[in-house]
Amino acid sequence: MFDVNTEQIYVFNCEYFYTEGNLFTYRAISLSVTMKRAIVYHEDFNKYDLGTDHPLIGDKPKNTMSFLKEKSVLSEFQIFTPKKATEADLLKVHDPSYVEHVKKLSQTGGWLSEDTPAPKGIFEVASLATGGSMCAGEKLFEGYEVAVNPLGGFHHASKGHSSGFCFFNDIAITIEYLRQKHKLKRFMIIDLDVHHGNGTQDIYIDDKTVLNLSFHQDGRTLYPGTGSVETIGREDAAGYTVNLPFPPGTGGISYLKAFKEIVPPITRQFKPEIILYQSGVDTHHADPLADLNLTYQTYYHLAKQVAALSEETSKKLLVLLGGGYNSTACIKSYYNIFCGILGKQDYLEEEEIPDTDPEEVKNTIQQLKQYLNDYWSL
Ligand SMILES: [Zn+2]
Repeated sequence: MFDVNTEQIYVFNCEYFYTEGNLFTYRAISLSVTMKRAIVYHEDFNKYDLGTDHPLIGDKPKNTMSFLKEKSVLSEFQIFTPKKATEADLLKVHDPSYVEHVKKLSQTGGWLSEDTPAPKGIFEVASLATGGSMCAGEKLFEGYEVAVNPLGGFHHASKGHSSGFCFFNDIAITIEYLRQKHKLKRFMIIDLDVHHGNGTQDIYIDDKTVLNLSFHQDGRTLYPGTGSVETIGREDAAGYTVNLPFPPGTGGISYLKAFKEIVPPITRQFKPEIILYQSGVDTHHADPLADLNLTYQTYYHLAKQVAALSEETSKKLLVLLGGGYNSTACIKSYYNIFCGILGKQDYLEEEEIPDTDPEEVKNTIQQLKQYLNDYWSL
């Protein structure tokens, strides 16, 4: 049930034994050694609602938590209530004029961009979502190896502008918060949402302390239009931005194959101190906003591998659940992500969908390998 190997348990216990110096402590700890996992939740998460006729409806965090509870998964996690990110936190990443702009919109209601209405009070709710990711990130420094924010992963928010239903880039704000507080030097983002994380890329394109890896549907066929295979970072940060765009119609089997060829070798070579996993499930075949054809089991296998890579390297995995706009399919897909993290075998399965264009997928992977050839052995 728990992915802790006996050698690690032994070392941990020995340390405890010698520092505490009595057998009772040794035994007590020995029994309680399990991987500690955290999840953050606040009932106001459900106020992140962009309207009933908008794809982003507010009840997703609540429905996710209910389903996890029903499936006896939630009991594997300790639940924490986050606080709102402060304005000083937001300013670690965003321009002051942008933060002011969102605040003003939030007072009157309005539009942040053509696809992103700004309902009244959104400043507070988006600050709470950001605070959720920061709180979950902090738990990884309090003995938790996995921490989840069901309302995280707003990767379209750039320093001074945003769209794509995002207000503040909680991924980057959490990175900057942890960098300052815990003096980290190597952050890895694994962004598997169907949309390219253009905001995060804008923020970190020149920063080689953040390895920003994004798998997404090809920008020539989907919002936000960026994330081409040749975008690999600038100057001495070249190789630290990794983009794998998939053609519409790509299925789970090809996607998993691509993941195995690219993600584990780069992670092992980069040796991250923390992995931030934007685990958006708008890649599912039933999602109304995009055209990839991943199936429920794909999410189980992806999450299982990300969790194993974290175990092998940083032992700090921050999971931000990200996009997903088919209200039934997204909850089931998120559940499978939890199954993957826990190594829980009763994950949901459905029939695989073959690729529309398997050759193009193979060619894109080969192209990416060529672009990255000077930086990583793949
Ligand atoms: Zn998305």
